[in-house]
Amino acid sequence: MTSKLKPGVQTGADYIALVEACKAGGYALPAVNVVNTQSINAVLESAAKNKADVIIQLSGGGAQFYAGKGLEDTAKARHLGAISAAEHVHRVAEAYGVCAVLHTDHANRALVPWVDALIDAGTERFKATGKPLFSSHMLDLSEESLEDNLAECERLLKRLAAIDMSLEIELGVTGGEEDGVGKDLDEVDNDKLYTQPEEVLAAYERLSPLGHFSVAAAFGNVHGVYKPGNVKLRPEILKASQEAVSAVAGTGAHPLHFVFHGGSGSEKAKITEAVGYGVFKMNIDTDTQFAFAERVGAYVEANPKAFKFQIDPDTDEPYKKKYDPRVVLREGEKGIVDRLSIAFEDLNASGNSLSSAL
Ligand SMILES: [Zn+2]
Repeated sequence: MTSKLKPGVQTGADYIALVEACKAGGYALPAVNVVNTQSINAVLESAAKNKADVIIQLSGGGAQFYAGKGLEDTAKARHLGAISAAEHVHRVAEAYGVCAVLHTDHANRALVPWVDALIDAGTERFKATGKPLFSSHMLDLSEESLEDNLAECERLLKRLAAIDMSLEIELGVTGGEEDGVGKDLDEVDNDKLYTQPEEVLAAYERLSPLGHFSVAAAFGNVHGVYKPGNVKLRPEILKASQEAVSAVAGTGAHPLHFVFHGGSGSEKAKITEAVGYGVFKMNIDTDTQFAFAERVGAYVEANPKAFKFQIDPDTDEPYKKKYDPRVVLREGEKGIVDRLSIAFEDLNASGNSLSSAL
């Protein structure tokens, strides 16, 4: 039985304890892409409601949106948005009573300077407070050679380990794209869609002496939601990699910490199987985007006049209480809260929070 953790953002040994508890307990946490305080607060609300811990993550584009599309310097916006969002979570997560993990999503070569600058900011925060800004960052150099990919992973992991942070790497290509990073399915070689155990073993041998890391493995998963039948998930790929590493390194059954990208739209049976092979994190973006849009759309449809007139032209009824953004956006938040409740159930995370407050 893992000991309880103080609610709030988890980093370092506490983050590792959370990952290990997931794997030992046969559950995984949803990692939800957020773009504003609405999505962050809804994620925390749903986690608290489901007595679960949760991962909050930002893509480069999400971070840019957080700082505001009106900021012309997009690199600066990405940097400020990520810091601002992370500080928001540091401020409020504890009040929700859950354990939250803060993470950044896909960074390809062009986004490496973004990650380096965030590590600089994390280092400053670590020196001042004992806690970095994020729990982990992701590096996605899966389109480069294994050597180039791992060399850069090594460089970053050294920096991260020094400030109690972890690194997520990508081996093999997750189909589709997440916020401009990645390729369409038909542009990727088929065998690259499935991570090779020897690549995972090479990564393990080079990175495990340096610090904590997780692996976004490709097992047929695709970003976005497609017609059933278009995506063939093969979670047994994960099992093969666990066995390859465990045999050579002489570790326990599941030495690797796997991340399931493109979780939206996946069947529950495949999710359960993947979790059984050491997946502790499942990314979800498309499904929560839709949940927000669907609920706001329904609200607008049910109150069409409130979105055209401040006062009803026939009855003189004022519509202020209907178009107040707190009312409109709250509908979208409720959509995210409800959709995530399904994700917590699918991942067997409900009721499994490690927080001492729950
Ligand atoms: Zn992804």
